[in-house]
Amino acid sequence: MLHETGMVFDIKHFAVHDGPGIRTTVFFKGCPLSCWWCHNPESKNPNPEKIEDPLKKLSETSKKCGKEIVGREVQVSEVLEELLKDVIFYDESGGGVTFSGGEPLMQPDFLSSLLKECKINGIHTCIDTSGYSSRQIIDVIINNVDLFLYDLKLVNNEDHEKYTGVGNEMIMQNLEYLCELQKPVIIRIPIIPGITETDDNILQLGEYISGLDCVLRVDLLPYNQMGEEKYRRLEKPYLLNNINPPSKERMFQIKEKLEVFNLKVKIGG
Ligand code: SF4
Repeated sequence: MLHETGMVFDIKHFAVHDGPGIRTTVFFKGCPLSCWWCHNPESKNPNPEKIEDPLKKLSETSKKCGKEIVGREVQVSEVLEELLKDVIFYDESGGGVTFSGGEPLMQPDFLSSLLKECKINGIHTCIDTSGYSSRQIIDVIINNVDLFLYDLKLVNNEDHEKYTGVGNEMIMQNLEYLCELQKPVIIRIPIIPGITETDDNILQLGEYISGLDCVLRVDLLPYNQMGEEKYRRLEKPYLLNNINPPSKERMFQIKEKLEVFNLKVKIGG
């Protein structure tokens, strides 16, 4: 079981915005979506890739081309070893591990093995997912996930397809399935000016989410421009050049609009 390997691009210790308490976040590489606002563009490609990295000290090989490789294959045992280092912090804070990405459900065998090992070791588990996955995969992992951080972006299917590259039907069906099984879910909405933050979309999201009885809270994640530089370093086009982050006032307005639906809403993760 522990010999299984997967592709990750980062493991972040002491994360406080990826679920309850102090957590270790494992970033899986590969995502079936292509959100225009994605601030982790290095997560999309499931394979290792070159990125220009002027901030880090480059290895001898990398110096020749001025680039580093992002993404590496790791074994379940290696990841588990990293997680076990932080158990004392999880216990003190009510934290645990969050499998994020990219899309963790794109590597179901690796994810499933990690989840099982976490359960054996008493580690609380979260998955940060777009929900774009087959039902079969959801069924394989569901019993070993304590909390789902579930991204919802756009209710209008055409808009969803335009801005993420895929439709939202399967995403919504999977969310409703989690609720049928009474799995706890925190919804995360990226607030992208002119795209997801429109009054129409917020109203539609509020109506939809309020019909789901497994949702503990809705987190509003304001757009930031942190990913822009990474697109340049990956030599990929950035499609949101002229968009500024939403103002604090606008974030509070959106929070209030969703609270009308009796939802518990938080700004930030
Ligand atoms: S689902 Fe998340 S990781 Fe995938 S492209 Fe969208 S923002 Fe990026």
